[in-house]
Amino acid sequence: MDRLKVIVIGGGPGGYVAAIRAAQLGAEVTLVEKDKLGGTCLNVGCIPTKALLHTAQVFRSAKEGSICGVIADATLDFGKAQKHKQQIVDKLVGGVKGLLAANKVKVIAGIASFLDPSHIQVKCGGDTRVLAADRVIIATGSIPMMPPIPGIDVGQCIDSTGALGLDTVPESMLIIGGGVIGIEMATIFSTLGCKVGIVEMMSAILPMVDEEISGMLAGKLKKEGMDIFTSTEVESVIGGGETAKVKVKLQSGEEKIIQAEKVLVSVGRKIDTESLKLNKVGVRHERGRIIVDVYMRTNVSGIYAIGDCTGGSMLAHVASMQGEVAAENAMDKSVAFDIKTNPSCIYTDPETASVGLTEQQARKKKIEYIVGKFPLVANGKSLIMGSEGMVKIIADKKYGEILGVHIIGPRATDIIAECALAIGMEATLDELIGTIHAHPTVSEAVREAALAAEKRALHIPNR
Ligand code: FAD
Repeated sequence: MDRLKVIVIGGGPGGYVAAIRAAQLGAEVTLVEKDKLGGTCLNVGCIPTKALLHTAQVFRSAKEGSICGVIADATLDFGKAQKHKQQIVDKLVGGVKGLLAANKVKVIAGIASFLDPSHIQVKCGGDTRVLAADRVIIATGSIPMMPPIPGIDVGQCIDSTGALGLDTVPESMLIIGGGVIGIEMATIFSTLGCKVGIVEMMSAILPMVDEEISGMLAGKLKKEGMDIFTSTEVESVIGGGETAKVKVKLQSGEEKIIQAEKVLVSVGRKIDTESLKLNKVGVRHERGRIIVDVYMRTNVSGIYAIGDCTGGSMLAHVASMQGEVAAENAMDKSVAFDIKTNPSCIYTDPETASVGLTEQQARKKKIEYIVGKFPLVANGKSLIMGSEGMVKIIADKKYGEILGVHIIGPRATDIIAECALAIGMEATLDELIGTIHAHPTVSEAVREAALAAEKRALHIPNR
């Protein structure tokens, strides 16, 4: 029997996972990538930022080691930090290449575009070829967005990719945009000795995060010396000298000039679907963002789309999960994508992580809920690690079903997996409480927060 021909466009965490899964299910798979395998995530996103964050954390630990009796004279070799980052990136990109080969996925370098729903043109240098497909999975991702601010193209302005490639740590950096990427970059460069300022148009940084958690994090960042200007708009940037002059309008209406050696523009990502010629095949999109259903199907039969190019939650693990779903459906199975268990993690110091509803969202949905909070000052492992924070659980008032968990504290990004599983399984507070958590771990605080929601916390007074 002829095998189904599946073409995947884009080799990021969405595309390469979709390609592997489709191959596992017996398809003849071709993946087209115009740049590097691994996409944004491996090359200029998740992995390089976390590698530099690791350097920053080790640097901080070395400097603060005297608290627990380790006296070290820490100096930074940023060139070596960049080399370490690149080694990890290269290793992982090589790993993706190996996995695709092991699964017999054919990889073609070039820019793909549609000729019709079952024919894809691939251009590479001067060469053009046409590939036939029974199914196409689009996974072309996103690219940094530059807002139309006068002067934003001066030499000192960089995007996240530029920041990850810097040769030296600048003396000062102003970050336009207090979202996840901006705040992680702020953490890296501030910890490494740069004077960091953040300008955010909204009334708080990380506006998508539970207000109490983002407030705690903002307090910590300010304490470490960052200047945070919220409800502040950038009016223009003037380059030219050693530093750029950024004119901002503060909440009070007053105008202010902030000077910085580098200006990191981190205001969001632009969908990268322009090169696909979607209109030729009638794939529905909203200014490039491809419209899909829960099966990751577009409006055109046989064409699926996944990951950043569909908008929504622009995260690598979402892209990969959608990749598996699209591959299964392309191979005539019926699997729906469910966002309910999607964790959002911010790799600051301390980390923050959340899954499910925030209190604000629960209120908006008019859900009757209860809240359990456990401060990490009462958690032994957090104290040992020199970090504070909180676990906050939101549960349905009647049945105790866990609706949301929000954590700020050490290892939050790992601990959140337990909470995602609980939400996925529609677990209740009692089920979480009935699960024995190892001691001493930060995860004990999750159980204690569940106990607190039932006003039976053991290590804090119940109110
Ligand atoms: P991408 O990874 O963007 O891959 C798309 C690929 O398609 C690219 O390789 C591109 O070259 C290729 N392509 C585009 N058009 C064509 C074409 N016409 N023909 C052929 N190939 C094409 N997410 C997390 O979950 N955790 C994090 O910690 C995290 N940190 C991040 C930090 C930064 C600085 C950034 C920028 C992003 C971060 N993200 C993080 C987001 C994450 O990187 C993306 O959500 C993820 O990479 C999206 O995967 P994707 O497969 O949809 O697209």
